[in-house]
Amino acid sequence: MKKAVFLDRDGTINVDHGYLYRREDFIYTEGAVEALRILEELGYLLIIVTNQSGIARGYYSEEDFEKLNRWMLRDLAQKGVRVAKTYFCPHYPQGRIERYAVECECRKPGTGMFRKAQKEWDLDMEQSFAVGDRLRDLSICYEYGVQGIWLGGDDTNRAGQGMVRPLWTAENLLQAAEKITLAIRR
Ligand SMILES: [Mg+2]
Ligand SMILES: [Zn+2]
Repeated sequence: MKKAVFLDRDGTINVDHGYLYRREDFIYTEGAVEALRILEELGYLLIIVTNQSGIARGYYSEEDFEKLNRWMLRDLAQKGVRVAKTYFCPHYPQGRIERYAVECECRKPGTGMFRKAQKEWDLDMEQSFAVGDRLRDLSICYEYGVQGIWLGGDDTNRAGQGMVRPLWTAENLLQAAEKITLAIRR
């Protein structure tokens, strides 16, 4: 079985400008690329799990998303980082585009994308981490023993209630990678 880090995209890997889809607007958060490199070297599959309600809202198309994603994966590959797969949810119940305006199991805090990844990659959830700037990025930690790292959270006691394992916090993805490094070397 493999272990993974489930990574949110906007606000975690790149600066969140809101409904980002153009390459010109894509800026890595500080230390993100180094963090991804560290996590890959530790033997984690890098799996991106991202809500893209901008598609359902009609702000950009699924193809726009795919284009940016392909560019990002290529760019990361050139920087020595291999992302195993990007899972995205294009849905939003109140969206303007009819075929995406549905209640789904994939939109976080739904755990559909995580469960799909678990099956596709035969992941050991107990050995895996989830990292994101919103609590909903860590929803899988309420179902499985995935360790959650919340970026920029402050009320950890209340926020982490109900998680299978205690919540961690970090300032950014690089600090999260450093915490994971220390944890598994212990
Ligand atoms: Mg985010
Ligand atoms: Zn969905």
